[in-house]
Amino acid sequence: MRKLIAAVDLGASKILTGVATAQGQILMREKFPTLKENGPDDIMDRISASISKLSVLCCNPDEQIVRVVVATPGPLSYPEGIVIGSPNLAWESVHLKYELSKRLNRRVIVDKDTNLAALGEYYFGQQGQPDSLLYITVSTGVGGGLILDKQIWRGHTGGAGEIGHMQVEPQGRLCNCGRHGCLEALASGTAISRTVKELLQQGKGIGILTMGNDKKDITAREVGEAARQGDYEAQMIVSKVIQYLGTAVANLVNIINPEIVVLGGGVALGWRDLLLEALNIYVKREVFTLNAENLKIEITKLGEDIVLYGCIATALRWMCQGDGSPDNVQV
Ligand SMILES: [Zn+2]
Repeated sequence: MRKLIAAVDLGASKILTGVATAQGQILMREKFPTLKENGPDDIMDRISASISKLSVLCCNPDEQIVRVVVATPGPLSYPEGIVIGSPNLAWESVHLKYELSKRLNRRVIVDKDTNLAALGEYYFGQQGQPDSLLYITVSTGVGGGLILDKQIWRGHTGGAGEIGHMQVEPQGRLCNCGRHGCLEALASGTAISRTVKELLQQGKGIGILTMGNDKKDITAREVGEAARQGDYEAQMIVSKVIQYLGTAVANLVNIINPEIVVLGGGVALGWRDLLLEALNIYVKREVFTLNAENLKIEITKLGEDIVLYGCIATALRWMCQGDGSPDNVQV
């Protein structure tokens, strides 16, 4: 019997599901909106239905899905798989692992999406496996995952990697977490849209406004486009984002001294040409010479599948442990 893996990337705005081989090849994927307003039961029902559908479409009679791994925004109790007070999903206490295991009638591993993205990059995005890797997603929010000595670094209570809440401007804009000047409040996709909105309220930012079809919803995409066409205000927004990201990355590089820093998420992927070179220059100028030595800063080549690849990597580790309890899997 050929063993297949089901992977789920549960995001705040969209859900990606996929079925992959034990060699890490994604055979089929599905994408649908999260529809948070319908509540957690509806979301879990639709995830379960999607996996059942993909398994019917993908699996030949001699094939079976043997592992299910789900990525979710944090905070998450691991390995129990309970989503606790998630601002992105607006879930208070949802037993995601238990509920999905019940619906799918099989054991499930649930881990934080940024941890899984770091692991996906580590196994599938890199030539060879670096000893340490820092992953940062710049998307609706900003988050991170850390691989140290080839293991996910979860911290004492599982809360490690909240890079989005590193303060990069003490007097800066109020963040959802209650502090001021967090990276997420200044450099995320949401923050970029808000910066444009503030400009427009002052009667500025007209060059950016002309890039969008929907004048009410100007995003990082329109800012990037305007910057490429030479719009000064857009270029200033990009430059500030690079400064904020660069400050956070430089602080982390000096503390952790990773071999590689990888960026992903919609903003990083969409702004690759605007960010990558400038961020490299900024960070390498800011950090200690020893820490800049051989430091690589890249944007992931795995695109929006990076979290799915992390789920697959976790499932492969789990399969290597035979039928051992997924709770004991250390990845
Ligand atoms: Zn914050």
